[in-house]
Amino acid sequence: MSLTSALTVRLDGRFARELSELTLPWQAEEAPEPTLLVLNEPLAAELGLDPASLRSPEGVRFLVGNRVPEGATPVAQAYAGHQFGGYSPRLGDGRALLLGELTDPDGRVHDLHLKGSGRTPFARGGDGLAAVGPMLREYVVSEAMHALDIPTTRSLAVVATGRPVRRDTVLPGAVLARVASSHLRVGSFQYARASADVDVLRRLADHAIARHHPEAAAAEDPYRALLDAVVGVQARLVARWMLVGFVHGVMNTDNMTISGETIDYGPCAFLDAYDPATVFSSIDDGGRYAFGNQPVVAEWNLARLAEALLPLLHDEEERAIEIAVASLGTFRSRYADAWSAGMRVKLGLPDGLVEDVTGPLVTELLALLQQGRVDHTSFFRALGASARGDTEPARGLFLDLAGFDSWAERWRALGPDADAMDRVNPVYIPRNHLVEEALDAATAGDLTPLHLLLDAVTRPFDERPGLGRYAAPAPEGFGTSYQTFCGT
Ligand code: AMP
Ligand code: MG
Repeated sequence: MSLTSALTVRLDGRFARELSELTLPWQAEEAPEPTLLVLNEPLAAELGLDPASLRSPEGVRFLVGNRVPEGATPVAQAYAGHQFGGYSPRLGDGRALLLGELTDPDGRVHDLHLKGSGRTPFARGGDGLAAVGPMLREYVVSEAMHALDIPTTRSLAVVATGRPVRRDTVLPGAVLARVASSHLRVGSFQYARASADVDVLRRLADHAIARHHPEAAAAEDPYRALLDAVVGVQARLVARWMLVGFVHGVMNTDNMTISGETIDYGPCAFLDAYDPATVFSSIDDGGRYAFGNQPVVAEWNLARLAEALLPLLHDEEERAIEIAVASLGTFRSRYADAWSAGMRVKLGLPDGLVEDVTGPLVTELLALLQQGRVDHTSFFRALGASARGDTEPARGLFLDLAGFDSWAERWRALGPDADAMDRVNPVYIPRNHLVEEALDAATAGDLTPLHLLLDAVTRPFDERPGLGRYAAPAPEGFGTSYQTFCGT
């Protein structure tokens, strides 16, 4: 329907229609004083939405769920999930709503979803709300990931609600309008599997195939093909995280998509010094979701998806398990292939080089980076300059100069391509100290640092004068004690 004379939003409710067992129709809580903090105009345009209308009072009410387009059926989605290894049969959207599906001018379908929109029947003990800081954090980091060419949900807007939120202190509340190719998660399948009716599971799988992996429909065994496809997209996704130094922080099965997009930016952060043991999340005591564990955790989560799919894989359980094991068995090589190919590009090396040459070279490099606690992002970008003959910026990051020199000599002999390196090794990432600075200022009412940071990280490969502090590592001492918080 037309919200203003210019803004027309048509939302379908296909998921709610096809999978009513996994949804509860629900309404957003009324925001007392909605104020638009940030609007993603390029994304709005991609979706075929008019930015000026989204900024209007009616548009802003639409973005917090208080103005529902006619015909739309907002729902809270049900899902289960393993959180830190422990199974919860009923999680679901405790503070979020799927407004509906929106078809963009190119015919692509996107979920339009709200986070922080009030308590739902899935809220358990939670208040259903979100604070300005964490919603802006998701906005910045997801848009940075998108600019880094890593599959991710997107952020359309953050609107302050005018409602205070009680955390350790009282904070201003906000709603994030999120756009995703869908919100189907491993946990959605776990939930469907737990319902006694295998037909629900089958409909969910058919929906996922139609939406994300349509080629599976034509396969001899569509459900095995679906599992194979999810194993593939997740292997590639996690490889991308590892190559850029991203720590998701809360890789529970309810935070892993079927589409292969990164989702749920809670305690996430980027590495400063390269160290596989890096953990930022305050609640990850055991380091389950440490940087270096992410591929293993992804594989573990996919095994939970495979378990959920067993009744669709074969009528005989033993045979179904064999099929699942065979599919999961491809994860490691697919991950390794994606990661090695990506690392070769980061190092500027040509495609045809055999593993015997690049394998030891890469292993040795990672050991040098870890020993020297070298800033991951700075190193790879500086190495591009080394490929052009200016070795000092990279060399200066190491304490073991002889070790680096010997490595660099062998690397340079392979003929690295500096321009190719600059296209994949970012200058600007949302560094933790900069994110904190921008969120603190925004919470206090000053959005300037947020916009400066967004400007840097949404063109991450494009080095620009005057943005030096956005490229620099954290100040001494910041990184070692840095912690991020979940469920905020
Ligand atoms: P997350 O850690 O954000 O992936 O959330 C895990 C689960 O907790 C999901 O079911 C969320 O909907 C729910 N949840 C997180 N924070 C809140 C909150 N403040 N109120 C209600 N539910 C919440
Ligand atoms: Mg979640």
